[in-house]
Amino acid sequence: MLEVAALQVATLGSGSSGNSLLLRSAKTTLLVDCGFTLKETRARMAALGVSLDSLDGILISHEHGDHVKGAGPVSRKHSVPVWVTHGTFTGARDNRFPKVNVFHAHEPFVIDDVRIDPFPTPHDAAESCQFVFESGGVRFANVTDLGACTPHVREKLVGVDGLLVECNYDPEMLRSGPYPPMLQARIRSDWGHLGNDQAAELVAYLDHKNLQHILLGHLSEQNNSDEVAYATVCKRLIRGHERVHVLAQHACSQWFHLSKRTVEAVVASRDLQPA
Ligand SMILES: [Zn+2]
Ligand SMILES: [Zn+2]
Repeated sequence: MLEVAALQVATLGSGSSGNSLLLRSAKTTLLVDCGFTLKETRARMAALGVSLDSLDGILISHEHGDHVKGAGPVSRKHSVPVWVTHGTFTGARDNRFPKVNVFHAHEPFVIDDVRIDPFPTPHDAAESCQFVFESGGVRFANVTDLGACTPHVREKLVGVDGLLVECNYDPEMLRSGPYPPMLQARIRSDWGHLGNDQAAELVAYLDHKNLQHILLGHLSEQNNSDEVAYATVCKRLIRGHERVHVLAQHACSQWFHLSKRTVEAVVASRDLQPA
C-alpha cells in the first residue's frame, strides 16, 4: 500500500511522574508538555534521536508539575517558544519562558505545517486543555488529565488517525489501593482523571476507519497495571488489538507513524462497511 508518514509521535514518558509527547511533521518538531527535568528531557529525546535544539515549540496542556516541570529550564536553555493558555501561564510556578504565545482553548492555531485544535478539558487546573494535531491530512489527538469525556471532547475526536488516551486507574484497584478516601474521590471525580472503563468506552465510541494507533497513557503506578488497562480497552474492540499500546512512565515509547491513507485504501475500507 502506498502510504506517506505525515506525522510521527513518541512519548518520553507518560504518567503522574512526568509527561512529554514528541510530535514530528514534515517540517516541524513539537514537544507536547514538558514534565521531566531538563537533563531527563535531553536524555530521553536523545534516545529517540532528536536534539533539544531542533525543537520548534513546546505546548503546555495545564500547569500541573507532571506536565510543566521542565518547560522553564528547557525553553530558556534552548530558546524554545512556549504555547499556553492564559490560565496555564498564570498558574505555572515557573513561567519565565523566553517567548510566550498565549492561545485560546477554543481557537485553532498553526505552528509551521502543523494545525493545532485545542479544546478545554474538565480537570482541576486553571485552564486545562488538550489538542488535536493535523499535518499532511493526518490527525492525532492527545487526551489525558480529564475527569470525564464531555460531548465536546468526543466531537473533537471524530475521525482522528491516532489517539493517546488517558487510562489512569482501574476502579477496583483504586478503591482497594493505598490512596486516602479524599484523594480517591479527587481522582474519580469529573475534574480528576479518566479511568480504564471510561477510556474503553471512548475508544469504542470512535470511528475506527482511519484509527491507526491507540496509545494508553498516564497510567497510575499504584492504581492500575499495563495488563488491566490493555485488557479493559481491548475487550471493547472487535478487531485491531495490535493498534493498542500501553505507554511507560520510565522509558520512551517507540515512534508511531501516522500515514494519510491512499484513495484506494479508503475506498477498500468503505467497501467493507455494511450497506
Ligand atoms: Zn497529569
Ligand atoms: Zn493534571
